[in-house]
Parts: sequence; C-alpha cells; structure tokens
Amino acid sequence: MTTTIIGYPRIGAHRELKFATQHYFKQRISAEELQDTAKKLRQANWATIKQAGIDQVPTGDFSFFDTTLDTAFLLNIVPQRYQDLKLAPLDEYFALARGYQGAAGDVKALSMKKWFNTNYHYLVPEFDRDTQIKVRDWQLFAQFKEAKEQGINARPTLVGPYTLLHLSRFLDGKQPADFVDALVAAYAEIISRLVGEGAEWIQLDEPALVFDQTDADRALFKQLYTAVLAQKGPAKILLQTYFGDVTDSYQNLTSLAFDGFGLDFIEGKVNLDLLTTQGFPKDKVLYAGVINGKNIWRTNYDKTLTLLSQLDEVADQIVLSTSTSLLHVPYTTKNETKIDPAELRYLAFAEEKLTELRELDEARKAKRDTPAVLTNRHLFATPRYDEDPAINAKIAALKPEDYKRLPARKERLAIQAKEFNLPILPTTTIGSFPQTAAVRKNRAEFRKGNITEEEYTAFNHKEERRWLKIQEDLGLDVLVHGEFERNDMVEYFGDNLKGFRFTENGWVQSYGTRGVKPPIIWGDVVRTHPITVAESVYAQSQTDKPVKGMLTGPVTILNWSFPREDVSPKVSTEQIALALQGEVLDLEKHGIKIIQIDEPALRENLPLRKKDWNSKYLDWAVPAFRLVGAKVQPGTQIHTHMCYSEFGDIIEAIDALDADVISFEAARADMTLLDVLHDVHFETHVGPGVYDIHSPRVPSKDEIVKIIHEILRRIPKENVWINPDCGLKTREEPETVASLRNMVEATKQVREEL
Ligand code: GLN
Ligand code: ZN
Repeated sequence: MTTTIIGYPRIGAHRELKFATQHYFKQRISAEELQDTAKKLRQANWATIKQAGIDQVPTGDFSFFDTTLDTAFLLNIVPQRYQDLKLAPLDEYFALARGYQGAAGDVKALSMKKWFNTNYHYLVPEFDRDTQIKVRDWQLFAQFKEAKEQGINARPTLVGPYTLLHLSRFLDGKQPADFVDALVAAYAEIISRLVGEGAEWIQLDEPALVFDQTDADRALFKQLYTAVLAQKGPAKILLQTYFGDVTDSYQNLTSLAFDGFGLDFIEGKVNLDLLTTQGFPKDKVLYAGVINGKNIWRTNYDKTLTLLSQLDEVADQIVLSTSTSLLHVPYTTKNETKIDPAELRYLAFAEEKLTELRELDEARKAKRDTPAVLTNRHLFATPRYDEDPAINAKIAALKPEDYKRLPARKERLAIQAKEFNLPILPTTTIGSFPQTAAVRKNRAEFRKGNITEEEYTAFNHKEERRWLKIQEDLGLDVLVHGEFERNDMVEYFGDNLKGFRFTENGWVQSYGTRGVKPPIIWGDVVRTHPITVAESVYAQSQTDKPVKGMLTGPVTILNWSFPREDVSPKVSTEQIALALQGEVLDLEKHGIKIIQIDEPALRENLPLRKKDWNSKYLDWAVPAFRLVGAKVQPGTQIHTHMCYSEFGDIIEAIDALDADVISFEAARADMTLLDVLHDVHFETHVGPGVYDIHSPRVPSKDEIVKIIHEILRRIPKENVWINPDCGLKTREEPETVASLRNMVEATKQVREEL
C-alpha cells in the first residue's frame, strides 16, 4: 500500500447531490430516492479512485451536508430541541443542518462556521446538560459495508474526538472535560464495530492540531488518545492532520500508539523540519500529504520527488497522499471544454490528482525519470501566460498615502450624516435578491446567445424595478439593485477583469448543498472596462432613495479564487485592488454615493497560528482593501460586509479597513460578536445581521425587536444599521419579503421607543 487520499469531493461532478437534496426538501423525491442518488455518487467515486490506481480508498468522507455534523450525529450529540421534533433520522439530521419549520415544530439550524482556512463551512456541534453520548447507526458503518460489497476494504474516516471538542460549543456551564470519558467509550465502540466489520485502517481527522496548542490542549489530546488507543485492538489508527504543521504537538503525537501519521507537507512546511530534526518512529507509517488538496495547479514532479527523497531518509514506510481532502477542488478537468487545451494541461482537479499520486509513486519506486516525469518537467519549463508590465510598475510605485483615505473617518461620517439624512437605525439589505429560475434562465439564455443583450438587460431592469418598488413599499432606507446580473459574486468580477480563467463544472462545496465555482487567477489582473456602473446607475435613476453600488472586495476575490503559485497573494490582491479602485471612482463619478465592497472572505486565509496573523496576512490584506476606497470624496460612504466567520479576534483589523459602515453575520453566531464590539473601541458603524438568511425560516417581528434591543444594549444607537445577515439570493421571494417586512416593522417599533 503506497498511495491514498484523505477524502474525495461528494457533491457529484454535476452537483447531483445538491439537486437531489433540494428536491427532497421540496418533497419532490422520497428519502429512498435521495439515498439512491447518494449511493450512486459514492460508488462512482470509489470506482474512479480504484481505476486511477490508488491503493487505499477512504470512506465516511461522503455526507449529505457536513462530516463534522455526521460525526456529532453518529455520537448522538443532538440538542434536545431537535430530538423533540421526533423526526426520522435523516430529517432530524437536516433539521440540525438547516433548521426546521413545520408541523413538528420550529427550530433554528445549528450555527455554521468556516472550516479552518477554507471556504467550506461546518456545523458547530452543541454539548449541553442533556447531551447523552452514544453511538448511533449513522452513515459511517453503512458506507463501509457498501464499499465492501463493491470489493473495497476501505479506510473509514471520521472527525476525531479532540477536534470535535475543539470545534464545538458548550452550554449550561459544561466543558470539554465533562465529556472525555463518554467520548473515549464511544470512539472505542466505533473502532471495535468497524474492526468487526472488517476494517483494517481507520482514519481519525485531527486538524485542530494545526492551531497553536497550549499545555492544556496537549494534555487533553493525550488523555483522549491514551484511552482510545488502549482499546483499539487490532485496528490500525491513522492520525490525520491537514492545513498546517503539528509543530507544538509532534512529541506528544509520536509518543502515542498511533499506527500512522498523516502530515501536510504543502501548507505545513515546518513538518519536514520536524521530521528531519526530530526523526520519525521506525515502526509507524507516514501518510505524506505531498499533493496540494486545495489548489488546482499541476504538481511539479521534480520538486515533489525531491521532497519525497528527503522524507525517505527519515521514514521507512511512506504512503503518498494529498495535503487535505480533495473536497476543496473540483472533480475533473475532463468536463472542461472551454479552456484552451494548451492551458488545461497546467491544471489538475481531484481525478487528475489521483493520477499524479500514482505517477509520482511509480517514479519514486523506479528511481529514474519516467515518461510522466519528463512530460511534467517540460510543462513547467514552458511559460504559462504573458505578463502585464504596466500593472506591475503601478504596484511597485505605490506609496503609503495611496492606502489612506482622508479626512479621518469621524469627520467623514459627520459629512455623510448631513448628506444622506437617514433615520436613526437605517435599514438596508446586503445586496442580492432571490435568484429565481427566471433570473437564472435569463442569464443562461444570454450566455448561450439565445437572446440579445437588449433582451437580457431589459429583463434585469424589469426585475430591478420590481424589487426597487418592493423595497420602497417595505420602507427600507438604503436600497440595492439586486445583483440579478451576477451568477456569483467573485465569478462575476473575474469574468469582467483580465487575467482570470473559468471552469464550466469546477464546483467546490461551500456548505451543505451549496457549491461555488472559484475562478482561476491565471495571470496579471487588470480592469479593461467599467463593470457595475451601468446597472447601478440605472437602478439609482429609478428611485429617490440611495442605491448602494455593490462590489466584491480584493481579498475576497483572491480568497475565493484558486490563486497563482508563481506570485505572492499580496501582489495578486493589489492588482485586483487597483482594478476595483478604478471601478469605485467610476461609480462615484456617475453619482453613486454609497458603495459597498464586500469582504465576506477576509478571515478565510487568516493563518491558523496566531503568530503569523499580521506578518503573513493582515499586514497586506487590510491595506489592499483600503486601496480600493482610498481616493473617494468624504461624502461618499464606503460600506463593507462580512459573513459566516468569527471576527472577535481580528476586530481591530476590521476597524482598520477604514470603511464607514460594516454589516456582518451575527444571527447565526448568537450575537457573541456584539460583546466584543462593546468591549473595544470600534469606530466603524455596524449592521449586525438581525436574522439568519441561510434558512428559509421567517423571523417574527418580536424576535427581531428583541435582537435590536440586544444590539442597542452594546452599541451606541447612532452607529447601528439594521439588515439581514447576508445576501438573499438563495432564498425564495415570499419568505424574503415576509422577513424583510418584519425587519422593517421591528425597526420602526424600536425607533418609536427611542
Ligand atoms: N453582496 C453579496 C450578496 O448580497 C454578498 C454575499 C456574501 O456576503 N456572501 O449576495
Ligand atoms: Zn454575507
């Protein structure tokens, strides 16, 4: 056994799982039909992995929504309010994932958070006084059996107890230590059941080890695993880490009775030093993550073979693997017909990475340059694109004052208050309105050339007018045009800038059923024409209320694209920032007075270890954002928006973005951020989302009134805006209008009380 992967994408090469689950939610297909689709997807994956010549196939990496939720569900970590619904297991699982509103009751979804430094999101398990850990019959066992029936002795994978505790919320005064014994017993039971069914290797994912570890963390890890491993019997346990290095736990890990260690040699550069300086236990298997699981460029075989020869000097048994689950890359380049084949050969998605693993393994065993190595060497010797000297000269000439907006924010906000004369607690939305079938069809028809540009624009304008009217009728204060011309907030900009490439089927799971299709930053990025100006100007011409211009920020465009590996992210981001600065100034010139620059992904690439936060990231990411808005007039108001992540710990950096107003997700994170805003001196005006848009549930007016009070208890009322959590494009129209009506009515009620 010399090749494997940590996990494979699961949504289907054509997003079959997304469509099947959505049909199931709308009761168009039965649970059996959904299960059937899932089974076909799993079997197709296993067949692909086997055919590519990979020795050990993982299982348990399939999920209807999220694998952290699967592990919690398997362990019966299901809060009472969901159990009280008395639903069938699959529906109970979906209630946890997306909330439930129906005959059985009304509960919100579990909160959702970013998965480490990726654009994937996991559901946060909740431990409370009622938590009764026990092993349920869920997914893992059935999937293992299913693989077995297909003649594959797979390696079951699940989230390990340490990471599970690390990522969870604890309520009712409970803490991780209270659940150690029960978790140990449950994991031991899971292992023994899997062994009983014929499993040999079992993978426990412990990515939480790549965060900074305290003594208490290390002690907890040791306590958990000393006990679990003592009961593992004949099972071989693979401790799998990814997204970084295990520098502060290495000794601890290797002293425990694991059978294999999965280490990331792409993001975890330090792991190589650990092994070479501290050695690697002779009797253990090194699962070497040498193929990048998060990016789509072909692997440079020469470099990887050098790395492997260094590893060979320290470890006796090496299995070649990916640095992370392949969940973070699309299925295959085979379905890409629009990218020039000469360019396509620079790319490797999940399926191509399987071949890379096999070819590297063959070259390594052959100890000579195989034809595959020669082809690869030739590819890397061929230039990939033409540089743009002008943009690079501009970047080289940037001076500190180019990043600084004048006058200072306080002064600007006073000027803007006079200019806009908005009521206290101004209401707004985040940008997008429902992307109905008709909206998507209009775009698709235009793309296919079935309708003219005039027809396309006429439809969008009609939809904009309809929604401007709805917004006016609801009584919102600052309006948006609705983003009907956008498929995706990053793809739309990439499409209009020079330097990007797009896939047709390069979907990557973002959360649950939702996929994103990240653009590829292929070369130097340059703005060649106005992008949003016509749409914004049209919308503003239809109403007397201010309409926000709507842009995606440079850091988000970078973080939600597949970045280049041949220049630094700093330089790529500055190129994008300069392009967007041109757009901002153009919008301003055409009378758009409020411009929102979305940065939902700002936190995304924050290094996982705190010591690197500023030096490796924020020190360039924050200035890149400032560059975009630095040259506007004092009366022009710059908004930004951020979602699904915790900002508490980078709150100063967020204030330093120097936006005038920020809206962010708070509803699903239980408003904990508000306490932070209360405790620090936060100057930016804020709209903490007052309801969760990731769920179809309609919040009541009273519920929102309460939330507004919570906000006002912590933030001066002059600084507060009222808005939903995020854009509304994934929602249906009736629930959107109903929710916004309650939001505006709630705001009016609170205004009266002030
Ligand atoms: N303006 C975008 C929208 O409303 C923001 C989306 C996001 O934050 N993810 O869809
Ligand atoms: Zn958002």
